[in-house]
Amino acid sequence: MQKKKLKPTPFAKKLGTIFIVIILILVTAFGYYLHCKNELKKAGYTPKAITRILKELKKDYALENPNNKTLNKAFESQYYDENNLDYYKQIKYQEQKNIIQNINKLIKKKYSARDISIILAHGNDKSVAELAKKEKIKYLEEFFSYDYAKLENYERYEKYLNETGDDEETTILKVNLNLDKEAYKDPIQVTDKTKNVLVNKHYYLGESYIPDNLTKVPLKYTIAGDGSVKGTKEAVDAAVKMIEAAQKDKLNLLINSGYRSYQEQQEVYDTYLELYGQNYVNNYVTKPGYSEHQTGYGFDFASGNSNVFQQSKEYTWMVNNSYKYGFCYRFKKSKEEMTEISHEAWHFRYVGKKAAQIIYENDLSFEEYYAMYIDK
Ligand SMILES: [Zn+2]
Repeated sequence: MQKKKLKPTPFAKKLGTIFIVIILILVTAFGYYLHCKNELKKAGYTPKAITRILKELKKDYALENPNNKTLNKAFESQYYDENNLDYYKQIKYQEQKNIIQNINKLIKKKYSARDISIILAHGNDKSVAELAKKEKIKYLEEFFSYDYAKLENYERYEKYLNETGDDEETTILKVNLNLDKEAYKDPIQVTDKTKNVLVNKHYYLGESYIPDNLTKVPLKYTIAGDGSVKGTKEAVDAAVKMIEAAQKDKLNLLINSGYRSYQEQQEVYDTYLELYGQNYVNNYVTKPGYSEHQTGYGFDFASGNSNVFQQSKEYTWMVNNSYKYGFCYRFKKSKEEMTEISHEAWHFRYVGKKAAQIIYENDLSFEEYYAMYIDK
């Protein structure tokens, strides 16, 4: 028996053709989709952003603005707003969780893209969100051209500037250091035991703060000579090197006082209060917990040749050379507004060589150094 060849009917033929065309279209579309995805990937967009870009038909816009982190984040975000695209692309990216949400709010408050970049650079999610709730601020560029200006302090800057007439830079430094507040009021509790620690009438050490590695200053370099003068090992080692260098210059530099515990500072405070009264104490002696002597990094120096340190050769040598050994002139006459301590010619503080050099070369108080370089 002969086999009968099966011939497709015309209808089936047609169906087959349609089927092939559809497959071709799908393959082409899919190929194009992959191509777009690849192009966007090359332009620095993440898969999540790419999905949004293709859905919103923003491929060309995205490709015209490659490797733009803010734009990428906007496309990734549930708060993406098409109307704000031109802002997103101009705003400098910051690693903040709510950046897009906050940008949208700031745009509503009529800040420019440049303003928003400045705001983001000086704040965090919380402080930016707080700012966005308020009226547009007046002195944005004036204050925030300083990289250590803090967004959360803006209102205090404005208030302090108006009250004092200080310049912007001084205002920022003082407010960051809480100098717009009364001495001893709402102090910040400090636990830092490194040479960066700041202690003054606004930065407070608890009663239990005891420095690590307390070491005795060699007896021959102290006035008392009874082993009672101590400091952190790092500071004592540096002080010894400095004293020995001064000796090579035929000077007799000595240490009068170093580490004082909370209780010892209490005794000093009470004694001076009884002897000289409140006014003297306010200027020269800090309350217990507020003395740099409790950190183990501050020392009072003396001269073996003169009773008045400020008139000694040792003093002049210290003013010009102590920074080379990591010490700074802590309570200068010209910095009384920053330190809130009257001039003390004898008190030098160990801060490390790098910091000491910056402080010396720029004529800073340790407070200013702290606000500019440490507490940013
Ligand atoms: Zn002192």
